[in-house]
Amino acid sequence: MGGGLAGLQLAHAFCTDGSFSSKSIAIIEPRELNTNDKRWSYWEKGIGKWDHLVSSKWPCGRFVSQYGDLKLKMGGYIYKSVQSIDFYNHLTDFLKDFPNVKFINDKVTEVNTDIYTIDTDSSSFKADYIFDSRPSSQFGRSVASGTSNLIHQHFKGWVIKTEAAVFNTDEFTMMDFTAKFKDTCSFIYILPYSKNEALIEMTFFTPKINFDGEYDELLKMYISKTLKVDFFEIIEVEKGDIPMTDFPFQNYNKEHYLKIGTGGGWVKGSTGYSFKRAEKFVEQIIRNLKQGRPLDSNLYKSRFMWYDKIFLRVLKNYNHLGEKVFFKLYSRNPHTLIFKFLDEETNPGEELKILGSLFSLQFIKSIFKN
Ligand SMILES: Cc1cc2nc3c(=O)[nH]c(=O)nc-3n(C[C@H](O)[C@H](O)[C@H](O)COP(=O)(O)OP(=O)(O)OC[C@H]3O[C@@H](n4cnc5c(N)ncnc54)[C@H](O)[C@@H]3O)c2cc1C
Repeated sequence: MGGGLAGLQLAHAFCTDGSFSSKSIAIIEPRELNTNDKRWSYWEKGIGKWDHLVSSKWPCGRFVSQYGDLKLKMGGYIYKSVQSIDFYNHLTDFLKDFPNVKFINDKVTEVNTDIYTIDTDSSSFKADYIFDSRPSSQFGRSVASGTSNLIHQHFKGWVIKTEAAVFNTDEFTMMDFTAKFKDTCSFIYILPYSKNEALIEMTFFTPKINFDGEYDELLKMYISKTLKVDFFEIIEVEKGDIPMTDFPFQNYNKEHYLKIGTGGGWVKGSTGYSFKRAEKFVEQIIRNLKQGRPLDSNLYKSRFMWYDKIFLRVLKNYNHLGEKVFFKLYSRNPHTLIFKFLDEETNPGEELKILGSLFSLQFIKSIFKN
């Protein structure tokens, strides 16, 4: 397994559970996990498993668009953020105390899922179970042939320090579409860390990445025109491209071989979030192993995969409608229900209400025709 988000969460769960102490666990990872390469944000109710690593949290949120400015009524949900460096440090320190866990600094070159062998640049191994967090090789082909839909969630963010106290630390901004670039589904996302420090991120949900340099221009414009800040310092930069897709990752799992993380479809197709989902998936994998069920039993929920597919097709075929669709979502539904829906915890009645607030049946039929 790789030592990124999914691999470390899984290894942590194996060790905390205690039932797997007789098994040797190897984490094969070519990277040094020593940079703050991202911040993982997520919502959850009340106290959570990673609270000791949370660097900032917000009880309130905002959604802004040309159609209206909404306060997110979060109910009991709290939006939390973990810096990846704190996560890597904590989990690697924790795992180093377990004699049955070994970190191997190497790159996997080949996995044979018939005889359960793993080749790396400098060695080879045999395993009873393989959890593989490498990107899927079939994914690109499936997207290129049009069999799967892909929307890039691509973004660039600056953590800025301002002279003036301009940020409200109680409230994060989920989406501000007033920063939209031309006819794309694009918005600004803000995480205020203090009154004069925040992550300001220009985010796009688009089928292609055919932009060049616009992020910086759009960020500068938003900071000066919307935030009305003239003097600031950029103290960190975050850049990324998260695949939002309906590719059937689950089809590539085998009896003792499980694709995990982004390469296993753990990133939710319609949102790009996966931190909290990884926690849930890992708990389910542990239950499956202990109860002798297939490794991926109850991980993927077909109803929700279908909703994600609808949403991806809308963004692919009608990208310019993104702002309107998100406004309808946030203005016509209780916000706690939206979080529950995105966490795949709603019932079919609740789901129909949400879908009905966004699209007509005719529209849904039409997006599957083209
Ligand atoms: C900048 C950024 C910000 C994000 N923010 C959020 C957020 O706020 N909230 C959220 O829920 N999600 C977020 N995501 C999405 C998602 O949670 C992350 O991408 C997450 O890290 C995915 O977990 P993972 O384990 O699949 O991938 P990674 O954490 O990238 O781990 C995969 C690991 O596999 C290793 N690997 C790759 N190839 C090999 C090989 N051949 N051999 C051995 N190891 C290999 C890699 O080195 C890597 O360490 C963000 C993504 C990015 C890029």
